[in-house]
Amino acid sequence: MTAKLIDGKAIAKRLRTDVAERVRMLVEGGGPQPGLAVVLVGDDPASQIYVATKIKQTHSVGMASYEYRLPAAIGESELLHLLDRLNHDDTVHGILVQLPLPPHIDVAAVLEKIDPCKDVDGFNPLNVGRLAVGGQGLVPCTPLGCMMLLKTVHADLAGMDAVMVGGSNIVGRPMARLLLAEEATVTVAHLRTRDVQGLCRSADIIVVAAGSPGLIRGSWVKPGATVIDVGINRLPSYEGKAALLVGDVAFNEVVQVAGAITPVPGGVGPMTIAFLLSNTFQASKISFQQKT
Ligand code: NAD
Repeated sequence: MTAKLIDGKAIAKRLRTDVAERVRMLVEGGGPQPGLAVVLVGDDPASQIYVATKIKQTHSVGMASYEYRLPAAIGESELLHLLDRLNHDDTVHGILVQLPLPPHIDVAAVLEKIDPCKDVDGFNPLNVGRLAVGGQGLVPCTPLGCMMLLKTVHADLAGMDAVMVGGSNIVGRPMARLLLAEEATVTVAHLRTRDVQGLCRSADIIVVAAGSPGLIRGSWVKPGATVIDVGINRLPSYEGKAALLVGDVAFNEVVQVAGAITPVPGGVGPMTIAFLLSNTFQASKISFQQKT
C-alpha cells in the first residue's frame, strides 16, 4: 500500500488565491489595504529565510508589508516600545514577531504586548485562552494549516483517535485544542510520555511536531492512518551533498503503511504562511467592520 500524498503546496496556493480575492473585494468595498508588520530581531539564518518568504507572499496577495529588522542586542523595552507603536498604527492590521528571540528578551512579555486583535500568530494569552474555551479569536497558523490538510482526507473528525506528538505552545497544544473542538479523542504525547510508539500505533490520526528527524517509524503507524508531519529539520550537508530538509516522520517507511501523509517539504510548511495571510485579512476585516 502507498499512502495518498497530501499536497500542501497546492492547497496553500488555492488558499492564497482565495485570500487575494477577498483582499481585492475588501479594498473595492472601501476597506483598508490589509497591512502586516514583521519584526525580526537578530540575524538567525532560518528566520531570515522565513521572513523573506512571508514578506514576498504578503505582497503577492495585495497586502502591504512593513518590515522591522532590529539588532540582536536591542533592549526589551525598545522592542516593547516598537510594538506599542505598531499596536496604535491604523495601517498595521497584523503584527508578527519572528521567533526565536535572543535569550535576554522575555518572549512572554513580547507576546503579551501585541494587541490581541493584531496578533496574527495567535500567541497572545487572550487568543490562547479563547481557543481553549472555544471562543472567537486568532488561531496559530501552523495548526490551522494542519487542520485544513486533515479535512481534505476526513470531512468529519468526530470520534477519531488522534495523537499529537509534541506539546509546544506554537504547534502541539493549539493543534490538540483544534482536534478536540472537532470532537476527536486527543492524546498529547511529549518527551516524558512512556509509550509514544504504542499510542501512535492505535491512532487514526498522527500529527507530529517534535523536531526529531525520522521519529515516527513505519512500524508505529496503524495501516490506513493519516499522518501529518510538521517537523522541519535541516540535516547538515555531507560528502558534497547539499543540506537536506526532513520532517519528523521516516517518510519512506510510513508512506508504505499510512492511508495519507504530508511530505516535507511541500506539506505543512506552505500552509503556515498561507494562514498567516488569512489571519491578517481576518484582522483587517474585523477592524474595518468595527469602524463602520
Ligand atoms: P518545541 O521544541 O517547542 O517542542 C517540541 C515538542 O515535542 C515538546 O513538547 C517535546 O516534549 C516533544 N518531543 C520532542 N522529542 C520528542 C520525542 N522523541 N518523543 C515525543 N515527544 C517529543 O518544537 P516546536 O516549536 O513545536 O517545533 C517542532 C517541529 O516543528 C520543529 O521541527 C519545527 O521546525 C517544526 N515547525 C514547523 C512549522 C511549519 O510551518 N511546518 C511551524 C512550527 C514548527
